[in-house]
Amino acid sequence: MPLVRRRRPEVGFHGVVDAAKGLVLVVEDDPAIADVLRLHLTRAGHGVHVERDGLSGLAQVRTLRPAVVVLDVGLPGIDGIEVCRRLRAADDWTPVLFVTARDDEVDRVVGLELGADDYVTKPFSPRELVARIASVLRRSAGVVGNGALVAGDVTLHPDTRQVLADGRTVDLTATEFELLAALMRRPGTVFTREHLLSTAWGEADYGGSRTVDVHVAQLRAKLGDASPIRTHRGVGYSVVAS
Ligand code: CA
Repeated sequence: MPLVRRRRPEVGFHGVVDAAKGLVLVVEDDPAIADVLRLHLTRAGHGVHVERDGLSGLAQVRTLRPAVVVLDVGLPGIDGIEVCRRLRAADDWTPVLFVTARDDEVDRVVGLELGADDYVTKPFSPRELVARIASVLRRSAGVVGNGALVAGDVTLHPDTRQVLADGRTVDLTATEFELLAALMRRPGTVFTREHLLSTAWGEADYGGSRTVDVHVAQLRAKLGDASPIRTHRGVGYSVVAS
């Protein structure tokens, strides 16, 4: 996993970014708040990109694939709530942390079940916001900014269906890929063989749950020492959370 190997951020020098902490897209029309956020997030080791209106923010989520979006509710053009609604409608689950200005905005964010990950209310402490972002990123651990799934030294790219183990490309069958993807989408979760069977094979049952064991064994052989798959005797399988 060389691209996201953790290294110490050089605090105070804004040109160096800890790649493991990920890019934060800030969508905020108040330049003073945007500047403060940029400063604190950069110091915390994040890359930062700022947009000032809803439509530009939405476009940059799709282009930049940030690790997290800090989304002001009151924005020119479409508001933050509409940005989040459009993302989720497009099945984009990039973590969103809302910044709200008033109680009625909090009510909308909480009440609409937009799939937001957290919110802070203005005025907020930048330090608190950085901590909230760290917490959001921990909860979404296993999903990195470009949509790739990571578990230990294995990286899976759902879009290109490429899998890397210790930096080398691994050729998987379609079934092996679906099995691994199902496990890596929810690191730490134990899946039963029956669940994995229906995920990787659809509704049809080709040979019963022991078939899963055979495919997992092949998957492990291909991933080698990098394999993050754990067996839970009598239950099923999981991958270790990275
Ligand atoms: Ca605003």
